[in-house]
This record gives sequence, structure tokens and C-alpha cells, in this order.
Amino acid sequence: MEAKEFFSRVISPFVEKADGAELLEKLMVHMIEDDVDGPIVPEEIIHTHVSSVEEVIQAILKAKSEKKVLRVAGSAHSVSDTIFPKDGVTLLLTGDLRKVEIKEEKEEGDKKWLYCRIGAGCYLGINPQDPCSCLQNSACYQLAQKGYGFPDLGGIIHQSIGGFLSTGSAGGSLMHSFADVIQEIEFIDGTGMPHTAKPGTDEWCAVGVSMGLFGVITHVSFCLPEMSLVEGSESNYNFAESVLGPDEEGNSKLKKSLEENEYMRVNWFPQKHVRRVQQWVAKKDPTEEGTIKYDSILACCFVSGVAAIALKVCNWLLQSPYPTEFHYKLIGHALRPFVHLDDPNPFRDCWYKILPMDNEVPTESIMKIAFTEIWVPLEECQNVMDKLQKLFEDQQACNNLATEIYGAKETPFWLSMSYNQKMVRVDPYWWDHNKGDKRKFFSYFWDALLEIPGSRLHWGKYLPLPGQKCGNVTFNLTYLKSVYPKMDDWLKKREEMDPDQVFVTDYWRGILEIPAPSQ
Ligand SMILES: Cc1cc2nc3c(=O)[nH]c(=O)nc-3n(C[C@H](O)[C@H](O)[C@H](O)COP(=O)(O)OP(=O)(O)OC[C@H]3O[C@@H](n4cnc5c(N)ncnc54)[C@H](O)[C@@H]3O)c2cc1C
Repeated sequence: MEAKEFFSRVISPFVEKADGAELLEKLMVHMIEDDVDGPIVPEEIIHTHVSSVEEVIQAILKAKSEKKVLRVAGSAHSVSDTIFPKDGVTLLLTGDLRKVEIKEEKEEGDKKWLYCRIGAGCYLGINPQDPCSCLQNSACYQLAQKGYGFPDLGGIIHQSIGGFLSTGSAGGSLMHSFADVIQEIEFIDGTGMPHTAKPGTDEWCAVGVSMGLFGVITHVSFCLPEMSLVEGSESNYNFAESVLGPDEEGNSKLKKSLEENEYMRVNWFPQKHVRRVQQWVAKKDPTEEGTIKYDSILACCFVSGVAAIALKVCNWLLQSPYPTEFHYKLIGHALRPFVHLDDPNPFRDCWYKILPMDNEVPTESIMKIAFTEIWVPLEECQNVMDKLQKLFEDQQACNNLATEIYGAKETPFWLSMSYNQKMVRVDPYWWDHNKGDKRKFFSYFWDALLEIPGSRLHWGKYLPLPGQKCGNVTFNLTYLKSVYPKMDDWLKKREEMDPDQVFVTDYWRGILEIPAPSQ
């Protein structure tokens, strides 16, 4: 059966209900045909293209004089309210603002480093939604060609350098962080003034994670280590035998596993009749040569098509007014094949083909996921596990997909979710084609976890509504100040950088309680 026929006859009828589903079939067929005919991407969202620092300055000055809000979009992978103004200008960085400039290679001690400056609009890998994006102009590819790379990457590399940095995004490692390798951050503030923030200064600590509220980041300079192969394995386990399961004393092995593995992420399927954990672990510099490709099970379009049917069926069963044991058994039958208890799946390949383990999954279309992500201080791992185990007694909280668990290394950025401390992260997946209320689903996790002292939320993903009660916490500026000790300093610096509030949208005004400018 041809791709188009397969999706229109078999898959689409199951998933057509969701918002944006009209794009689904088109996208899936395009993705399959890409291999043959070159990239075909959906229509571009309207942006103002800027290709140089001077054009950024002019765009800011124009927005300021016209009293318009100005924002920047990277790959637009964050929740759309976090990026776009309701009525304003959205910049897309192109041209010079996407270039990778190699400065020099230096030998220091027994190590070699690459100094480079990268335009903030450059994508880490390929952004499938941008017709101008290709492997050759991606940051990872160009650095890998020289034998260097980023020591940490998220689960996908569709993001721009500016967007990844601005939201405090991170991969699953307690040993490496993106922030470790940054040397300078160049940005233009709300008055059109250029700045170059350097490590150790307040400006640096404040702008590193600033959600587009400090200005437009135009370039980021890095000092990168040599990077070549990364190896590891993916395996599925019953909960009790997994890294989340109990040790001899009955405590979870989560903290120890996060500390021992250089890179790790787990997908926990907690449903009553699944209770399995998919473990992905990896390390740099393997002793063996040769590559073994990593294949995520959902990277195959046809498997993700079948998974979409399974997810839709489970979603429908969970939506029933009185789900019974029979419904839960059916859910178990539908999900277990995707977390099969086979032998481990080994892999070894170039760093940027391994670290972003979900990069080949069709997350822009049929496997589109909405997320919230709660970051909790690492010492609270057992508390997190106890709360999640209790929460997962409720099958609605288990839902029809996995909850991702991974870690993050501390960073010096004041608003980083791992500011000054290592964190464990809980990332429940909401399949975007589900029927139902994603905020209600995320609230299970907010209610259970936000009350753990020091818990913070990923800025690029779903946040509770301002003033929402989450367990014994109210999500407001008082809460944010309690978990971000430098929040007051950050807000003060923000005001200095953007006195006319050129970058402040209603969304961020609501979350950060930024008063409207005095007339
Ligand atoms: C499938 C998927 C997987 C993901 N995996 C991970 C993961 O493993 N780890 C993780 O931490 N996160 C993850 N995320 C979240 C993602 O990394 C963030 O949403 C990130 O911000 C996306 O980068 P972007 O280029 O799309 O930025 P956008 O979403 O376009 O922008 C993010 C924010 O940064 C601002 N911004 C963008 N560029 C600039 C600039 N040049 N100057 C100033 N402000 C700017 C925007 O205005 C916005 O506020 C994932 C998201 C998806 C959809």
C-alpha cells in the first residue's frame, strides 16, 4: 500500500479529531517522500526575517517607536504562548545570524579545544519545519566535521541555539551541560544597545536563561571539547528490575543510576498492565571502534502509525465514563508491544546521532507531544519516586504514554531550572492527538511534585496558570522567588535591559507579574 493510501485509510481516521490534524496526513506523506524527492515542508509561519546584527537593532528600534512587542522564534518548539506576541513582531534569525564561524583550535594540557562563534538562529540539527535547514548548515554537523562537539544535547536537535539556551533546555546528564562550554553571549537589548555577556558577571548569569525577555541573542561563542563516538544501549525492563526499581533496602535506584551513567534517560510506562521501563544509557569515548546505528522504535513511520492507532484506542478507553479492569487490560495489551522485553539494543555512533535519541521520531506530526517538565533537586529522588508511585495508582495519571525521567547538571544561570544544583526531571508526555484536557493531566504532576522544596518548571513547556493551586503551592511570583533565589536580581536587570517592555508579552507579564509600564 502506498504511503498516502496507508495514512488516509488506516491512520488518519483514528487521529483526525485533534487540532491541526488536517496537517497530519500531508506531513506524514511528505516525510516519507522526503527520502525520494528532497524536503517538502509545511507553509512557513509569517516572521520578519533579519540577517544581521544591524537589522536586529533596526527591528527593535522600530518596534519600540511603534510601541509593539517584539519576540524571536527559534524552531518554535516551545509552547506557542512562550514565544509569540498576540499582536506584534516575531523575528526569525537568518543569514549571518545562522553562521558557524570557526575561530581557532587550541591545545591546552593534554586536551584540544575548538573556539567558535555561532549565530543564535543556527539550528543544532535539521529543523524539519524550515525549508532552508539542512544537515550541512546545522551546528552539530559542522562541528562534528572538525572533530568537536557539544557535550550535552536534548532528545531532539531541531532547536535553534538561541531557543535551546533561552529556555534552559538540557539533555540527560549530571556530568555535562550546554552551559559549560559557552564563552560569550551577544545580545541586543530593548534600547537597541549591543552587549557581550562574559562568564562570572551578573549580566551573564541573568541573560543565559531569559526566555527572550532580555533582548535578542544574536551570537553565542563556545569553547568545545573533542567529541567522537558515543556508545550505549536501550533496554526494556519490568519496573522492579529497572533503574527505577528498589535496591536491597527497598529504596529506588534512581539517584545512583543518574549519578553513575554519563548519559541516561528512562521512559516509564506505569500503566497497571504494563509497568515497564525503557532505559537508554550511554557514554563517551568507547574503547571499541565501528558504528552501530541507533534506531528508535518510533523512528519508522509505519511503526509510529501503528503506535498512533494504539494511543488513540487507549485514549478512547480512558475517556470512557467508567473505565473497568477490562479497559485497563486492553490498554496493557495495546502498549506492551512498544516496550517489549527483548535483549538490549546496543548502539555506537557519532555523538550527534546518539545523544538526541528521539530526533528521528516524527515529533512534528503523528508523534507530536505536549509536555510539562518538573525539575526537582537530586537529593529528593526518593521523594519523587514515592510520590509518582502513589500518583500512578490512578490510571488517569498514567494515561496512554510514558513519563520521561532524566537528570541535569547545575548551571550558573539565575533562571536555569538547574541553577546551582543537580536536578532530576519528570516529563510526562501528552500525545497531542489525544482527546481530553492536557492541563488537567499535567495538574496531576504539578499537584504531586511542586510541593517538593526547590521544584522548578521548564520554561519552554506547559506551566500552571498564574495563581493556580498545585498541591500546597500557589503558582505565582512568590513561589518563583522561593525557588529561584536570584529572581529579584533577574527582574531588576530585565527592567534595565528592556525599560520600555519591548519584549514583554501578556503571557510573561502574567507569569512573572511584570507591572504594565507607567504611561
Ligand atoms: C519533541 C521535543 C523534544 C524536546 N526535548 C527536550 C529535551 O530533551 N530537553 C529539554 O530541556 N527540552 C526539550 N524540549 C524543549 C525545547 O528544547 C525548548 O522548547 C527549546 O526552547 C526549543 O528551542 P527553539 O529553537 O524551538 O526555541 P523557541 O521555542 O522558538 O523559543 C524558545 C524561547 O526562546 C526565545 N528565543 C528564541 N530564540 C531567541 C534568540 N535568538 N534571542 C532571544 N530569545 C530567543 C523565544 O522567544 C522563546 O521565548 C523538547 C521539545 C520538543 C517539542
